[in-house]
Amino acid sequence: MERLGERAMRIAEDLGVDYWISLDEGMEFPWEALKALGGDGLLSTMVPRKLGGLEMGVMGLSATIEDFAAAGPGLGAYLLLSNSIIASLLAEVGSKSQKEELLPSIIDGSSIVCLGLAEAASGSDALSISTRAERKSDIYVLKGTKDYVNNSEKSLFIIVVARTTPIEDVKKRSQGLTLFIVDPELPGVKHEPHEKLGMRYYTTNKVILDDVRVPEENVIGEVDKGWQYLTYMFNADRIATAAMLVGASKYLLDLATDYAKNRVVFGKPIGSNQAIQHRIAEVYLRTVEARLMTYKAAEIYDAGRSAVIEATSAYTEAAEAAWEAAEAAVQIFSAQAYLKHVDVERHWRDIRLYRFAPLSRELALSIIAEYGLGLPRSY
Ligand SMILES: Cc1cc2nc3c(=O)[nH]c(=O)nc-3n(C[C@H](O)[C@H](O)[C@H](O)COP(=O)(O)OP(=O)(O)OC[C@H]3O[C@@H](n4cnc5c(N)ncnc54)[C@H](O)[C@@H]3O)c2cc1C
Repeated sequence: MERLGERAMRIAEDLGVDYWISLDEGMEFPWEALKALGGDGLLSTMVPRKLGGLEMGVMGLSATIEDFAAAGPGLGAYLLLSNSIIASLLAEVGSKSQKEELLPSIIDGSSIVCLGLAEAASGSDALSISTRAERKSDIYVLKGTKDYVNNSEKSLFIIVVARTTPIEDVKKRSQGLTLFIVDPELPGVKHEPHEKLGMRYYTTNKVILDDVRVPEENVIGEVDKGWQYLTYMFNADRIATAAMLVGASKYLLDLATDYAKNRVVFGKPIGSNQAIQHRIAEVYLRTVEARLMTYKAAEIYDAGRSAVIEATSAYTEAAEAAWEAAEAAVQIFSAQAYLKHVDVERHWRDIRLYRFAPLSRELALSIIAEYGLGLPRSY
């Protein structure tokens, strides 16, 4: 595992921090980083060896993404997540031809991929999505509007989540959803980009699907069982996201500690004041705690057990740890942090997202209350 992290760190160091600062400013996608990671096999940590992967589970992905994020990219490391998790989904439940045709370019870093689940109206209540897919002989016709889909316009494909059985006809709301592989350039697909605060290396789009015709062989796994596959993905995604946030937190902790040692005010380094020391030490504690929770969750997930409580807990704690790190760094750098050339504000903008997406703190606590503590479902 350590070697994976070292390899990822070397790639991050070769690219340099300025690479991410300039992509953030120019709102450009980190293709060079993706190709370097893919070239070194680091996008295939969750793919079995027989399909060309490293087969190191979510533990391997977490070790890779933590060290990559900590070496400067911060949440720019997201590109490791999307390809790795979707590759593992295809490896697990994709058809033979989906694996043969799509996996190679996802894991070698020549393509990116994305998930279209969220819709503006459904928000956190993902099961209430209204995008539908209707079967017409050997094709499906998709209609609806997805929102907040990252990089959809330049993806090899979008995994579109659509309802194939009406909600009135299923016993549980989680039934009747299907995953479709959708070419972003098909007739009827339109991408409308949003302007946004952070994560500017990645576009985030509204995706309009207007009677988009998709062949039946583009269904992933079985029809109507999409939510089951997504749940499998979500737990891995939460664990690896937690690892990425821990990495970002470590990066900021290093920056803030270094600055506190060297910035002299009132004739002494600001880091010699207890108020500053405690602030940094609190972030350190919270980051270590989140890290331990992350790797415990990874162990449980890789052992094939349900990791919903551990993955959700690790994710939400890591999001808080990273946010505290970002806030502490801003306070410690003060005026400097407000300026563009110091690499604090980029992280502060990027990290804020993870306190509400892909999962909000409120919903994470509700999941923990329900699954971990046996309290009635509140959402
Ligand atoms: C930059 C960005 C990238 C994204 N990328 C993707 C992507 O690639 N693919 C994708 O599918 N989605 C993506 N999303 C969407 C993201 O997953 C949603 O924003 C998220 O699910 C929350 O939905 P919402 O923002 O509509 O919040 P809402 O559901 O409207 O919630 C608003 C607030 O109310 C709270 N709340 C809601 N219900 C309850 C409850 N029952 N109890 C307590 N509190 C509650 C929430 O916690 C939150 O604080 C992205 C979003 C952003 C901003």
